[in-house]
Amino acid sequence: MKTSLSEFIANLPKAELHLHIEGSLEPEMMFALAKRNSVKIPFTTIDEVRAAYNFRDLKSFLDLYFAGTAVLQTETDFYELTKAYVEKAITDNIRHSELFFDPQTHTDRGVPISAVFAGIARALREARSSDGFSSKMIMCFLRHLSEEDAFETLQAALPLRADHTDLWCGVGLDSSEFGNPPKKFSKVFDMARELGFRIVAHAGEEGPPEYIWEALEILKVERVDHGIKCETDERLVKYLAEHRIPLTVCPLSNLKLCVVKKIEEHNLVRLLRSGLCITINSDDPPYFGGYINDNFIAVASAFNLTGEDLVDLARNSFRSSFADDEQKMKWLQEIDEYADNRAID
Ligand SMILES: [Zn+2]
Repeated sequence: MKTSLSEFIANLPKAELHLHIEGSLEPEMMFALAKRNSVKIPFTTIDEVRAAYNFRDLKSFLDLYFAGTAVLQTETDFYELTKAYVEKAITDNIRHSELFFDPQTHTDRGVPISAVFAGIARALREARSSDGFSSKMIMCFLRHLSEEDAFETLQAALPLRADHTDLWCGVGLDSSEFGNPPKKFSKVFDMARELGFRIVAHAGEEGPPEYIWEALEILKVERVDHGIKCETDERLVKYLAEHRIPLTVCPLSNLKLCVVKKIEEHNLVRLLRSGLCITINSDDPPYFGGYINDNFIAVASAFNLTGEDLVDLARNSFRSSFADDEQKMKWLQEIDEYADNRAID
């Protein structure tokens, strides 16, 4: 069967491995929650919010992002936020998503960490039973805060672990990269590993290749979030390729945060051709102008990707996930069937 590029992408089964649930807050929901919770936000109209989405760099985005998250106050808010993302994910044919969440963004404002966990988990469990939507939760530490703060967050979250073993599988690291290298968090990640958590970290989004080495060698990450700044270090590129360490790349995010000037200048296809395990993800979709399929379309159009390339990217997303092997095999089979029956017109 012949289909258009956008239909091929839209119907392709895929996993999303780099999505900040707080970053999926659409302006409409920001306004609704601000009203419900009587929280002041620095905007009076939805157009004003969208106009503010002209970022210079990661820092200018994070300033707006943290202002937006202030509207999230209750378990219901986190539930509604997650439910909205999951509904969109299902429409985009995402079968499995591993959601990042940042408790420190909320506990600093007096929101109980249990409300954050419970709201997100409720929406994910509902989607699992109603639509077979598979998911995991990855708790991230904010790297602009101290390691001590990260330890406190981990300690505060641990009593919630027993109730969330079906979802909470990993620990990650996000927020502003420059000046906050992975090694700053070596001890808290040692502890997280000893506790049996899967480990990921943002590294090499804006920061240098050394940060990626630190994520690999000190934090012992299984995946690198972004990682695109690896290219200036030949030995690192070789290492990532040889060990098939997945990079969770977010093309529209990189464009919007001026990491690349245009999508045609992005290095992800070059890295893919060099044998790296590249996946495509949306990061903070409303802020960066697109959900996962928009990211796929932008890259496929800019680089004239073939159906085979797109299928490879989707395969990588399932293989790199923290789902169990049996489940991964089912998805990979489904992709094979999909690829056998369709071609891009
Ligand atoms: Zn991210």
